[in-house]
Amino acid sequence: MSDNGKVENVIIIGSGPAGWTAAIYAARANLRPLVFAGRPKTTPSTILPGGQLMMTTEVENYPGFPEGVTGPLMMARFEQQAVRFATRIVTDSGFEPDVANPDDGHMYAYHDCKRVDLSQKPFVVVGEDDKEYRAHSLIIATGATANWIGLENEKRLARSGGGVSACAVCDGALPVFRDKVLAVVGGGDSAVEEATYLTKFASKVLMIHRRDELRASKIMAQRAMDNPKIDILWNKIVIDVLGDQMITGIKLKDTKTGEESNREVGGLFAAIGHTPATDFLEGQLELDEKKYIKLTDPYRSVTSVEGVFAAGDVVDSVYRQAITAAAMGCKAAIDAERWLAEQGIE
Ligand code: NAP
Repeated sequence: MSDNGKVENVIIIGSGPAGWTAAIYAARANLRPLVFAGRPKTTPSTILPGGQLMMTTEVENYPGFPEGVTGPLMMARFEQQAVRFATRIVTDSGFEPDVANPDDGHMYAYHDCKRVDLSQKPFVVVGEDDKEYRAHSLIIATGATANWIGLENEKRLARSGGGVSACAVCDGALPVFRDKVLAVVGGGDSAVEEATYLTKFASKVLMIHRRDELRASKIMAQRAMDNPKIDILWNKIVIDVLGDQMITGIKLKDTKTGEESNREVGGLFAAIGHTPATDFLEGQLELDEKKYIKLTDPYRSVTSVEGVFAAGDVVDSVYRQAITAAAMGCKAAIDAERWLAEQGIE
């Protein structure tokens, strides 16, 4: 039985735009959703609380915020809206969230989900404290995390809005990057796409790739090579990020000769792939070859297990935007509501 003595209608795992939007819709449909919002302290952590937006400084492309909004504040507002309609959140002290101080990092009192058992009905969700929760349906919105190079100064400047980012589409248009030399790390389709996007704002874009051949599809690779504003630095890796408050340059190492050199840049964008947060689902439902949850109908949120729905970056390696994730969260809640009604579960 669930910790609160009953089987939940729907448990939502994840607290990014997809998770909170699913909660808003499910709560307004009177399903009283229970959310596992995650916390980074848990090791290993399943869910990044608030999702990728917690790493984003200014969001300028989400409709309805003409002046822009910071990622963390935006997620706090999503959460407040979900709670307003009686969404419950698993916390240290029960299910009543404290949303009085949305900017205070209150999310960190929330719980991670450690494990699920989808072979049983109702489904079993195990919290980080080993408590078992049961639910007729699940919405999985655990997202994907951008891969970082793994450098100390990279992390520091990414956290403080110092010109290091893992999403050019999210951050590239910010005034701080205008007319600067910008660096993109990676040689895949994302790196080409991000580099091409950044040429709209940058004086020059340096694509830094560790080999002498791009991984990107031929047509994309050609696009990068034909773009006069993109210079590809072959056989190079970034070994340090320079700058105190704001990035001023990068230290490079040649992968063939070992030679080190510095380049002045006003921004660094990692485009070296994403990792979906699906480790805890291994063997429970179908994942694709890159470990994203497989939808059995691409226009809906249905997964290989009936009653389990998925939304946001955990199913999406292509768009990865707050607005597309939110839209998928809405679809998942509607799919769950209809499915529960079909099962005669009110
Ligand atoms: P990806 O194809 O896995 O490429 C990752 C790139 O980052 C590779 O070039 C890899 O180098 C490099 N890399 C990985 N780890 C690194 C590290 N630690 N340091 C330096 N470089 C590192 O990832 P993606 O570009 O994000 O694409 C993911 C999927 O989405 C792909 O299937 C792609 O085709 C698709 N996609 C499609 C489009 C489009 O069609 N418009 C746009 C974006 C993405 P190596 O090459 O040496 O391994």
